Amino acid sequence: MLFDPFKRKINYLRISITDRCNLRCRYCMPEEGIPLIPHEEILTYEEILRIVRVFAMEGISKVRLTGGEPLVRKGIVDFVFHLSQIEGIRDLSLTTNGILLKDFARDLKKAGLKRINISLDSLRKERFCQITRKDDYERVWAGIEEALTVGLSPVKINMVAIQGLNDDEIESFAVLTLHLPIIIRYIEYMPSGNGEKWKESELLTISRIKAHLENVGKLIPIPSDQWDGPAKRFRIEGALGEIGLIGAVTSHFCHDCNRIRLTSDGKIRTCLFSDEEIDVKELLRHGGSDQDLKERLLAALAKKPERHSINTHQFKKCQRNMSTIGG
Ligand code: SAM
Repeated sequence: MLFDPFKRKINYLRISITDRCNLRCRYCMPEEGIPLIPHEEILTYEEILRIVRVFAMEGISKVRLTGGEPLVRKGIVDFVFHLSQIEGIRDLSLTTNGILLKDFARDLKKAGLKRINISLDSLRKERFCQITRKDDYERVWAGIEEALTVGLSPVKINMVAIQGLNDDEIESFAVLTLHLPIIIRYIEYMPSGNGEKWKESELLTISRIKAHLENVGKLIPIPSDQWDGPAKRFRIEGALGEIGLIGAVTSHFCHDCNRIRLTSDGKIRTCLFSDEEIDVKELLRHGGSDQDLKERLLAALAKKPERHSINTHQFKKCQRNMSTIGG
């Protein structure tokens, strides 16, 4: 088992397999995109598999693939299959914008993917286009439907709630859970990304989101299980699906943080909001052993911050864009 200096058990690795993305969400990226990491600097699938094998021996049991947009990277299905075969990996999931999901959902499920998170910030086609700068709303819904059809479970829809942008859709998203077996997760808007500047006035806190949800029905709390992340879970009375509230900014769940990240160019990051990174790519490419890899992992964990400093005067926006870290 892996522990950090604050006695937190670390068992969750999020891997950004590419910094490329087929959307340009306004709060995440500028319209022209961000400078791309050269292909040769991106970890190969073989390198990632080796890292996961070593980390799994140390105690990582949960892996999420993210990006950029993970489904734009060629060979993803085979890669998922090989990951799913690694001893000790008991939970394998992926976060996607859903655009390519209709084509991939069935094969990903067969390859061993268990569950999926789909990012969607508006249920209005025009607003979706305005936020993402792309006209792919129907494709995302086709992807969501396919994920349900092939039995990926649970299917979670992640909505970043932003005051003045989509705050008037909180209730509409919740209504989807009444008849669909999906989990709608509301995520507080975080101060990261290269796009339009984060303003505190745009932060829609989970307590305000909860007040909106109470207009839809009575919220019944659901106890968390061991695989739950920081989401506070609820069900609207009589609903088929669930609600999750993720107070990434206002509620400090850092004391329970069980995660580390691997960037697409091979750096371990132990906090989304810290620029502290430890390289593993150069180590692998210069003959490093599995023992060396393990030592790098432990060195990274030794520096995991106790908590993020958003809302304090020490807070500095991190240098990297979310799409290169893996949101
Ligand atoms: N392309 C994939 C997707 O769209 O889900 C994975 C990468 S994307 C960076 C992961 C998630 O980060 C998305 O749900 C996106 O909405 C979220 N995200 C990006 N910038 C954010 C911010 N400033 N605050 C909160 N969530 C953010």
